[in-house]
Amino acid sequence: MKIRDLLKEKRTISCEFFPPREADGIPNVLRVIDRVKAYQPDFASVTYGAGGSTRAFTEEITMYIKRETDLEVMAHLTCVAQTREEIQSVLERLDQNGIENIIALRGDPPQGQTDFVPVAGGFEHATSLIKHIRQNFQFGVAGACYPEGHVESRDLIQDIEYAKRKVDQGVDFLVTQLFYDNDHFYAFLDRAAKAGINVPVLPGVLPILSTAQIRRFTGLCGATIPPELDRQLDQYADDDNAVRELGIEYATKQVRELWDSGVPGVHFYVLNRSYSVSKILDNLGIEGHTAGT
Ligand code: FAD
Repeated sequence: MKIRDLLKEKRTISCEFFPPREADGIPNVLRVIDRVKAYQPDFASVTYGAGGSTRAFTEEITMYIKRETDLEVMAHLTCVAQTREEIQSVLERLDQNGIENIIALRGDPPQGQTDFVPVAGGFEHATSLIKHIRQNFQFGVAGACYPEGHVESRDLIQDIEYAKRKVDQGVDFLVTQLFYDNDHFYAFLDRAAKAGINVPVLPGVLPILSTAQIRRFTGLCGATIPPELDRQLDQYADDDNAVRELGIEYATKQVRELWDSGVPGVHFYVLNRSYSVSKILDNLGIEGHTAGT
């Protein structure tokens, strides 16, 4: 089913997983997916790696979800280090295997590089990939957006203009980068509405697992940590269990507020750990998204 049709029927809960580096990590990812499945998310997605074998694992896990579970699935696809022909082959394989939804991304510059340089004959921006998919396939297509602005954007005005181009090229919905202050998300929605963005925007929520990890992630993607949360992360910097519980409590509050504000759904960055998302969904008690209901 196309996720755009699901979004017309209901407010969705979705969960994002990532492929392991090595093949022997796949069973673990599948176990996490099976545990999260008990909470009946409306769809799951699998990120696309920077290169090499993890890309094959992305396809393998995406197809596992499609084949072996009753979850809808969304494949991630980026423009990094691939020609149009290579991307076309990936799209054809996904299509032949019954995948109906794709989130089309540019991807980050490879490690050690600051600028994104497309390969010769490759796509330069997510919008060109979105356009290609729309012109050649029937997939439902999503795109990424950035409540605090993408790290490479000059300012929030330019950032929203580029997000609007994704909508003009036909994305069905947008999914945000992680954020820890809902006001950034609400301000993004205001800017988006003014820019004529009229598709659903799913907030992306990352339950914090450790102080070092979240500092690294936010440092890389340019998201900010509110001062009070930052202080607590400092306080428990050496105690991952305490930070994980803090992360559950924080995300529960964050998602409850977002849900009450009427968001069309919530997308969880699961980071291949089922514990936090399970606890958060237990705490929220959202109808149809509690284990065993
Ligand atoms: P783009 O929309 O192309 O934007 C990249 C930059 O270029 C922005 O600064 C934008 O403002 C600017 N820009 C856009 N269009 C133009 C234009 N026409 N002219 C000039 N500038 C332009 N990364 C992965 O590697 N794998 C994944 O699976 C993955 N999944 C993600 C899922 C979500 C929900 C999100 C939010 C991010 C994900 N990422 C993933 C990270 C993403 O690849 C990076 O944030 C990347 O730097 C930008 O991707 P994009 O699709 O937003 O790119």
